Amino acid sequence: MFRHHSQPLVTAPAETAVLALLLAEGPLSRVELARRTGLSSTAVTKAARPLIDDGYLYELPPERTAPGAGRPVNPLAVAPDREFFVGLKISAGRLLGAVCDLRAGIRATAGRAIGTCTPEAVAALTAELVDELLDTEPVFRDRTRHLGVTVNGDVDRDSGRVRHSGLLGWRDVPLAELLAASTGLSVTVENDVRALTVAEHWFGEGIGTGYFALVTIGAGIGSALVVNGRLLRGAYGVAGEVGHISVDPTGPRCCCGALGCVEAIASTDAILAAVRRDTAYAHLTFDEVATMARAGHPAAGGAFARAGRAIGTGIAALVNLVGPERVVVSGEGVDTYDLLSPHIQEAYAAHAFGAASRCPLSLRPLPWEEWARGGAAVAIQALFPQYGATPTTGAG
Ligand SMILES: [Zn+2]
Repeated sequence: MFRHHSQPLVTAPAETAVLALLLAEGPLSRVELARRTGLSSTAVTKAARPLIDDGYLYELPPERTAPGAGRPVNPLAVAPDREFFVGLKISAGRLLGAVCDLRAGIRATAGRAIGTCTPEAVAALTAELVDELLDTEPVFRDRTRHLGVTVNGDVDRDSGRVRHSGLLGWRDVPLAELLAASTGLSVTVENDVRALTVAEHWFGEGIGTGYFALVTIGAGIGSALVVNGRLLRGAYGVAGEVGHISVDPTGPRCCCGALGCVEAIASTDAILAAVRRDTAYAHLTFDEVATMARAGHPAAGGAFARAGRAIGTGIAALVNLVGPERVVVSGEGVDTYDLLSPHIQEAYAAHAFGAASRCPLSLRPLPWEEWARGGAAVAIQALFPQYGATPTTGAG
């Protein structure tokens, strides 16, 4: 039967290694699993047994690895429908939710406008939204126990608290506790960009990489790093913040108080402010500025060029320090990537040091569902206690 909802699925290192590899990479034979995890074939078989019995893994029909290659093997695969996860993104005016399966495939989505943005009102709205999502298919309600919630700002996943979210106007909110009480699910809370990075690392471009970075561009410049296969949190909860690397000490003042941060030059607001100032058109919108830049307007084009150079220089600093295997650039700002990209690439090439510059930058569009999917990915990680904090549960 279904395990108690606060109990982790796997605790033994061998079980964790086998399930994590199958989750990320799909069906593999026991021999391949043994080779990739460094376990013996006997240890793989022993680790897989309880997960097969519990319905999380199943054996595919036998296949011969090569003509005449002896006994056929049954590859092991994850049963994606064995458990479902709700992912939620809380943004300034909107709640976005998704039900994802065990391999982070999106199965249903729904949203709600947020009227009053108090934590209590959002908790009540979350309960409604989760109900709507779990009602879309009967099997969702039976097989969902984890909710992963993502918020912009300073989030402490261990305690489930939002320490500060400027966008929501929240300070020190025990969000996991509130949502566990209102939904009855076990809840993990994470910063939105970190959650997106987890999704991309486990189920996207970052699969199999030990060192990986994701940078989001748009209203803010966000980033998160994976080091040695783990999300980097830093001793003080802050690490890998590309947006607040200063790339021009004489540059504009950033919202963080420092001068010339990447974000102060390259956020959509910063680009817009620069063009308004340079053209003396105080009512320009960001879309108009993008159109002007595409039509060759020098002030608009110059602002995107400065923004692109700031982003590329910031990413190069990150790459030089940490040496990721790849960097994914995402965020709503990718809509103007055509204007930014040549300048990002040029500055990146100019500043990346030695072999680190072999790290490719790839672009990933970001439909809103992806933010909610990031929440679900964090909830999936809650099955593996060593990848994060124990989720917060309600009275259950
Ligand atoms: Zn800053």
